[in-house]
Amino acid sequence: MKLLSTILEEYTETHDLALIEEFKEALWGSKLKLKKRKLSYKYKVVDSLLQNDSELIGMFDKHKKVEYFNNQNRYSYDELEYIDFIRIRVNNLYAYHFDSELYLDKEYYRLLSTAANKYYEVIGQLKQDGNIHIDTKEIDEDIKRSFDLAEQVKTNSPNKKMTLTWDKYVKLVNGWIDHLFDLYKTPERYEQEHGWEYRNEVIFTEENWVINYFNKSIKGKTLNYIRDSMPKYIICDKCGKELEVRHKNTRYCKVCLKERTKERRKVNNSKYYMKNKK
Ligand SMILES: [Zn+2]
Repeated sequence: MKLLSTILEEYTETHDLALIEEFKEALWGSKLKLKKRKLSYKYKVVDSLLQNDSELIGMFDKHKKVEYFNNQNRYSYDELEYIDFIRIRVNNLYAYHFDSELYLDKEYYRLLSTAANKYYEVIGQLKQDGNIHIDTKEIDEDIKRSFDLAEQVKTNSPNKKMTLTWDKYVKLVNGWIDHLFDLYKTPERYEQEHGWEYRNEVIFTEENWVINYFNKSIKGKTLNYIRDSMPKYIICDKCGKELEVRHKNTRYCKVCLKERTKERRKVNNSKYYMKNKK
């Protein structure tokens, strides 16, 4: 594949759309797909550490492995192409902002780790005093309650993510890329217009320049997209009730809008009446 900086530089001269296509093909064809890896909170039940208490053993055995997803991002830098650095950013942006199973609230992971924590807690207690009474049923209920809460955090969290499929995100990114190709400035051009900011950076290369440009821009556009997609609320001009803005010109709540329309109609009718009376 051509260097990214070469593709971009050629584009600024020719505006050949095939260059954008080449860039996109490399980006989406990257071997670094967004992958999910299953991780788990787990422990090994050791009967003797639980004083061979069959109830305790059975209860802890039920919860010995709790799975969750993680963003798989294992690669070695040597094997990466330049375009992969942009792909990694795109994958991470999607995972962080839109994937409902990745990067969840800290609380979610804390709740999922309850069983493992309880297990080690009980082992510690029994080690100190082998005759201590452990309420197996209570612990079991605690664990189950935590798992239920974890599910709730996942589905009802106030920081709940926006729903957007990967395919739709790819479409958005493709649109942004078109735009970014048109806005791109070579380092020389940038230098002429803004003075130089990057020259002192030890690792400056034109490839880094391009990667940095796309990564920063795609991140910004993703955040703007989320911001613009969030429902907005205003206060009704007449009664002060909070309402969601559905149109640019929204000013009144439904009730007040209806009343207003009625009144206006009345005024218009009477004007009409007066006019025809004359
Ligand atoms: Zn109102």
